[in-house]
Amino acid sequence: MSLHDQALAALEAIDAAGLRRTPRTITTAQGPYFEIDGRRILSFCSNDYLGFAAHPRLLDAARASLEVDGIGAAASRLVSGTMTAHREAEARLATFMGTADAVLFSTGYAANVGTVSGLAQKEDVLFCDALNHASLIDGCRLSRAKVHVYEHADPQHLHSLLKSRRSEGKRAFIVSDSVFSMDGDEAPVADLRRLADAYDAALVLDEAHAIGVLGPRGRGLAEELGVAADVKIGTLGKSFGAAGAFAAGSAPIMDLLRHRARSYVFSTAPMPVLARVATAAADLVEGADAARAQLASVVARLRRALQVQGYVVPEGRTPIIPVLVGDEARTMALSAALFEAGVLAQGIRPPTVPRGTSRIRIVPTAAHGPAELELAIAAFASARGAL
Ligand SMILES: *Cc1c(COP(=O)(O)O)cnc(C)c1O
Repeated sequence: MSLHDQALAALEAIDAAGLRRTPRTITTAQGPYFEIDGRRILSFCSNDYLGFAAHPRLLDAARASLEVDGIGAAASRLVSGTMTAHREAEARLATFMGTADAVLFSTGYAANVGTVSGLAQKEDVLFCDALNHASLIDGCRLSRAKVHVYEHADPQHLHSLLKSRRSEGKRAFIVSDSVFSMDGDEAPVADLRRLADAYDAALVLDEAHAIGVLGPRGRGLAEELGVAADVKIGTLGKSFGAAGAFAAGSAPIMDLLRHRARSYVFSTAPMPVLARVATAAADLVEGADAARAQLASVVARLRRALQVQGYVVPEGRTPIIPVLVGDEARTMALSAALFEAGVLAQGIRPPTVPRGTSRIRIVPTAAHGPAELELAIAAFASARGAL
């Protein structure tokens, strides 16, 4: 069979399983409201947690950069792609995180794959949360280190694995999201640190959903808890409102990444405009206490309102709010009913989450005010019939 025909057959199987995806096209800029297939809708599908994706100061930084830096970085950072814009962004991100240094990557995906596979090697052993982000999982695979997966957010299971398996590796790493992307729950970060210390392991935390949202000046969950991680990874595509990502840590760890992270070494440097925007966004995120408070208030009120309506919403405080449905078809029916009511809240189904745990994932941002909250609550009330 030709590849063309194989692809057709594979797509038919995806279709038959009810898992075909056909993303709608957004025809305006991102924001709480946008136009989708010609229709104005209130979105709860954004990770632009602080509402910065169209912030005038980021637009200004981008325009100014275009004049000075041009568009392309022309080469890998190691060849001739390191520009003033990249250097300044890394220095600013390090200050933002309170670390000695930071390394800029093109995406969070590239940062995670490059960081984990750049630090862990074949002779090492990795201990990973069962619900880690796909990019961390891919980084673990690429490292060729031994990988042991512990039950989600379960320090006891991690402890027993460390006890029996730590000796398999020269170096050991505990790798976890700090806020999990599908359930919005939090890793037991203090326990992870304690176990890392007890078993001579390093702690690598992906703070993609925590940076900007949690912790003093938006530094993330570990900082909030006063817990040190050896490496923290943050994306610039979520609360920073742009794109790109960074790893932050000590100077030697960051310098080693610049030699070993293949997604850094073998990839064209991020556009300088992105680096300039990252620098400007760090100022915004750091000073966004009011937006963080607004976000926390919207999150608490929305979680509570949905629970009162009888929806299954696990306890939590992060903006990732899973509304558990279970069945894939019922999940998509609920999502469609919400769309009819003017609210975009995506259904999440396999392979993103395990079969039978399909859910609506509703994500408020600081840009959602009282009117938007009302609209969402009313849409969920009227959509209940779809279940
Ligand atoms: C979004 C996300 C990433 C990937 O970041 P991008 O910048 O979108 O590539 C990595 N880890 C987690 C936990 C995420 O949610």
